[in-house]
Amino acid sequence: MQLYKNQPLRIHNSLTGKKELFKPINEGHVGMYVCGPTVYSNVHLGNCRTFMSFDMIFRYFKHLGYKVRYVRNITDAGHLENDADEGEDKIAKKAKLEQIEPMEVVQRYTVDFHNTLQQFNLLPPSIEPTATGHIIEQIEIIKEILEKGLAYEVNGSVYFDVVKFNEDHDYGKLSGRKLEDMITNTRELTAQDEKRNPQDFALWKKAEPQHIMRWPSPWGDGFPGWHLECTAMSTKYLGETFDIHGGGMDLKFPHHECEIAQAEASTGKSPVNYWMHANMLTLNGRKMSKSTDNNIYPSEIFSGDNNILSKPYTPAVVRFFMMQAHYTSILDLSDEALQASEKGYNRLMEALESVDGLKTGDSSDFDVLAWKQKCYDAMNDDFNTPILIAQLFEGVKHINLIKENKESISKEDKDILANTLKTFVYDVLGIENQSLAKDDSNTLSGVVQLLIDIRNEARANKDFATSDKIRDELLALGIQLKDGKEGTTFSIN
Ligand SMILES: [Zn+2]
Repeated sequence: MQLYKNQPLRIHNSLTGKKELFKPINEGHVGMYVCGPTVYSNVHLGNCRTFMSFDMIFRYFKHLGYKVRYVRNITDAGHLENDADEGEDKIAKKAKLEQIEPMEVVQRYTVDFHNTLQQFNLLPPSIEPTATGHIIEQIEIIKEILEKGLAYEVNGSVYFDVVKFNEDHDYGKLSGRKLEDMITNTRELTAQDEKRNPQDFALWKKAEPQHIMRWPSPWGDGFPGWHLECTAMSTKYLGETFDIHGGGMDLKFPHHECEIAQAEASTGKSPVNYWMHANMLTLNGRKMSKSTDNNIYPSEIFSGDNNILSKPYTPAVVRFFMMQAHYTSILDLSDEALQASEKGYNRLMEALESVDGLKTGDSSDFDVLAWKQKCYDAMNDDFNTPILIAQLFEGVKHINLIKENKESISKEDKDILANTLKTFVYDVLGIENQSLAKDDSNTLSGVVQLLIDIRNEARANKDFATSDKIRDELLALGIQLKDGKEGTTFSIN
């Protein structure tokens, strides 16, 4: 493993627009921050793709032997409906609509977020901090920016002075915008605007009397601006400058641009060495949007309960589908695309199931070490998962030729082939072998569940002959029942 860690890894840095050699700040360590969800609704599939991309990156670094501190936040306050500091707080609005506490909204959708990501087999981050848990840290950063003269207070709110900041810094460098162009292209400020310039953004907003999510501050009761939490939490857990900052492409401007400005204003340092942006997921060739109904939730894919789908798909198939595209490319989801991925997934799983049992010979007709190196080359080239998957299928092709006695492989090479395939599929791509993923899986689970119900009835009637018969005969078929506090579950060997 050490061997592969020392190979050059290149990352597309959104800040420079170039693929750059990855050099960690601390040898053997990676600090990575990814903007998490605003928890006011069920997580949608486009967001899942972003988090899955960074999960794959997290997994690959870990596989290479790095110690990774992966911080992904939860936005539970401060994100207004309109990114330009206007409108209601998204969470407070939902709380009013459902007549519950804002923290109940946060809890409900944080649980949904975690459940969904777990279904997709994402590893939990090292730290998952919340905005409301870091109000003090955010107030401290505002004080520092005010001291540097790069923010101003109006009426209980504090705004970042973008024009002043831009005199000595480059506001717009991440998104490739020029402040002069932004100024000419935006509307004039109106008399009721508190900002000096339309590009200025809120660090702290005064809470109106009816606003429920509020905290005391040196400027009165209010709440932090949305961009500030990420600066506060990334600095706290990863330092003033850290290795990687990731997020969806849509966060590049204004969110990440504002994060850079806040960090540079408060610490004088550039906060991030490598900015990484994951691209979006479209649905049937169009942008996903709740308002146009061109939208799909993960649960609808798993149940097949959406009229664009001909059938349900397992989380592992969806994850495999996502990994077939490079994280910086737009990916289009459709029923046909998922069907094609399911076929590929099944072929890959069949190969994984048979690789250990391959017959071995004295020599190999296939250069396994060269193939293994190509797998690493793909990942070392900006985490190129589509190329990696193409290489994995090259391995599958040889497995099938060996099975048909058209090629032979040595014992040593077979072990390398099996280990490499399992490592990349399970550990790096995070694709599980859900052998129940076959078409008849739902039928089978339904039948087993029916037998469990009949067995429970038999046990309730003290008919232990029947209940034992069901348990034993299922076991003989390789289906093991487990009785627990939550009821009976089963596993298929
Ligand atoms: Zn963020």
